[in-house]
Amino acid sequence: MNIPYASQDIDQNDIDAVIEVLKSDFITQGPIVKKFELAVSNYASVKYAAATNSATSALHIACLSLDLKPNDYLWTSPNSFVSSANCALFCGAKVDFVDIDPDTYNISIKKLEDKLKAAKLTNKLPKILIPVHFAGQSCDMQKIHELSLKYGFRIIEDASHAIGGSYKGKKVGSCAFSDITVFSFHPVKIITTAEGGMAVTNDKKLYESMQLYRSHGILNDKQSFRKRPDEEIWNYQQVSLGFNYRLSDIHAALGLSQLNRIDEFVERRHEIATLYNNFLSDLNITLPYQSKNNYSSYHLYPIRVKKRIKQKELYKVLHEKKIIANVHYIPIHRQPFYEDQGFKKGNFPEAEALHKEVISLPMFYTLSPKEIEYVSKTLSKILK
Ligand SMILES: *Cc1c(COP(=O)(O)O)cnc(C)c1O
Repeated sequence: MNIPYASQDIDQNDIDAVIEVLKSDFITQGPIVKKFELAVSNYASVKYAAATNSATSALHIACLSLDLKPNDYLWTSPNSFVSSANCALFCGAKVDFVDIDPDTYNISIKKLEDKLKAAKLTNKLPKILIPVHFAGQSCDMQKIHELSLKYGFRIIEDASHAIGGSYKGKKVGSCAFSDITVFSFHPVKIITTAEGGMAVTNDKKLYESMQLYRSHGILNDKQSFRKRPDEEIWNYQQVSLGFNYRLSDIHAALGLSQLNRIDEFVERRHEIATLYNNFLSDLNITLPYQSKNNYSSYHLYPIRVKKRIKQKELYKVLHEKKIIANVHYIPIHRQPFYEDQGFKKGNFPEAEALHKEVISLPMFYTLSPKEIEYVSKTLSKILK
């Protein structure tokens, strides 16, 4: 039996909720999507939520709504999944990265500040910054927000890892220090809808714009028709170029049911982290960083070994022992596609150094104490 690095937990209530939708009138975007949006916005203490069929789509409509255009720059962390950067290119804009902090593995505030200063001189300031809350641990949003006021950029938090976590006592997603926050409900994340995502905001205009982009740029409400409101027999008008990024009620029912257990999920992840911390504290590795500002959602448990040779050996032996560890991340700028755009090895050395030393241990709700001990002992044997 393999132990994966991540796995969903679907219980009978989740299954019943999905079956109920299958028997109902709506199976695509309908009343359950609305309920799910309300529930997530209440949970995260934010005003508006637009559910989408993935976090990738949510990032795209967030960028469009913040008016990201060709020749604009979007900056993000190289230590992330490719979507954090691809969303800029979807809009025809340019992407650049800010290297990470070697302790938190999140975007470095110092490097961000230096890069902004330099960009101001050359007139290449970013329109949007996407900080990524790596492993479930929030970036220092207050500092990033201060810089956004000074340099005039907008902020989309990529909180794909971080629903259920908090920063300075506020739930991630409250958008206290950002324009929009995006969540992912992919099965490896904290709660799942199979595929799905959400963009949340306190700005009504941004919300309305994201709703339009998510559904073909079509308005359904006659009151808001832009042209010939009284002539139409049919009940919709396309007013901009949007996409079909809608979530279905089937997926939303799963998400709504999963949301009931989100705090339980995150608490369990903390217990697992504590067990790992205890088992692994004597080894010559760096355990995951925890900021006193944050309550992490512990999406990942990344350890850092001292040498690439150790990382490779560790990865190989763990797999032989049926422990399917993973590496987060190949820095986005080192992906062949991004190298073709002109990025090179050496551009973001801290993210590159992490990539050569980091391994994500299994971390998910149903991971048993026995399995945690087995993973820890296997690791100790290799590293001692
Ligand atoms: C998973 C993930 C995404 C993409 O999520 P999808 O819902 O699969 O589109 C984006 N950013 C980060 C940081 C992620 O981990």
